Amino acid sequence: MEISSLSSKKVAFHTLGCRLNFSESGSIAQGFVERGYEVVEFGDQADVVFLNTCTVTDGADSACRNLIRKAQVSSPEAKIVVAGCYAQMESEKIKAMQGVDLILGTSEKYKVFDYLDSESAQEIHIDKSSEFWGAATTLADSRTRAFLKIQDGCNYVCSFCIIPFARGRSRTISVADAVAEAKGLAAQGFKEIVFTGVNIGEYEASSGERLTNLVKRIADIPEIKRLRLGSVEPNTVTRELLETLKATGKYQDHFHIPLQSGCDAILTSMRRKYTSAQYQDLLAQVRAIFPAAAFGADVIVGYPGETEEQFLQTFNFLRTQPITHFHVFPFSKRKGTTAAKLESQIQSSVKKDRVRTLVMLGDAKLADFAANSVGGTTEVLFENEVDGFWEGYSSTFLRVKVRSDELLKNEIRRVRIEGHSQAARSTWLTGTVAL
Ligand code: SF4
Repeated sequence: MEISSLSSKKVAFHTLGCRLNFSESGSIAQGFVERGYEVVEFGDQADVVFLNTCTVTDGADSACRNLIRKAQVSSPEAKIVVAGCYAQMESEKIKAMQGVDLILGTSEKYKVFDYLDSESAQEIHIDKSSEFWGAATTLADSRTRAFLKIQDGCNYVCSFCIIPFARGRSRTISVADAVAEAKGLAAQGFKEIVFTGVNIGEYEASSGERLTNLVKRIADIPEIKRLRLGSVEPNTVTRELLETLKATGKYQDHFHIPLQSGCDAILTSMRRKYTSAQYQDLLAQVRAIFPAAAFGADVIVGYPGETEEQFLQTFNFLRTQPITHFHVFPFSKRKGTTAAKLESQIQSSVKKDRVRTLVMLGDAKLADFAANSVGGTTEVLFENEVDGFWEGYSSTFLRVKVRSDELLKNEIRRVRIEGHSQAARSTWLTGTVAL
């Protein structure tokens, strides 16, 4: 072992919550690496433990508190940093816990390096302002796929969601900064960019530029070969946006569009901005422009007052729509939201049953979708080699593996799909690289 690595400081991360949080942890971890830190596993001895927290439900809050306790046990000597959404909302509760050195809100977490050397017993930095605080990328995909954060916060008031309180109002990175960030990612070898944020369809830079302007500018970067949108609210997906994505020639055949419920009464109570019929029309519009598009959707079951019949409406909607990538969540109360105060909360055993029912439907639909891909071809951006197989994602966001002697890391190849498998809730396509 080199002397330098023996003497380098160590930082351990643990992240809870959404993909955006993970992407932000990746960016902050990169900041530590640039300052000479080695990133170690959570639970290993470390000089700094960085907990990037979530507050989406009461359950998430208690998971954060458990995590803090675990960090105190595993790294009693470390500086413990509790950052992110739970820290933003519940700094006083965290303060009361022993051994937390730094409490940083959702924007202050990026400034962790300013506070690390402080000798104070405990510091709290929570900023309620609404400035944008920089883009973020993840290192998790070994330099093939980067998550470019273009937006944060949300101006909507969905009844079940605490995000507008935890992350503040919507704000966006400028087009110029996003392009500079994307060029930097291209220079590092990233070929695919996923635009992320809390509500990216609401992207609007101070110059008045919208998501379409941003997409065009990033698509012009020759080294960026593939583009994806992260989760995008249905009411923000316009024909103009779809046509812009199509015109890039780089947008992949996958859209993640949260549904939450297939029942209009529930959608209204949730204060969502669309009906099930509008959602259905949207999928048809997308398919008219992207005929091979695959769809992912978030769904909440057991929302307060959801009857069996209303649940069945959601079930039938999902069954009949071309949605194949299901993300099913039981409704979970979050103190401070409107939905937490609603009467007729649903028993947890009922919620569990409904989750199970939709998960089974989702698995079956995904398996069918994979089976229908057999015999065709798809372009794959290969990420890793595992046990002799090269793995990557298809355009439709299915995992693909091929056996090949070629070094395929970060290569895009057309693959002939010859089979599919599904085990332990994991669906794969298998095939060979087309010559
Ligand atoms: S759109 Fe609704 S669910 Fe999504 S972040 Fe905004 S308030 Fe929350």
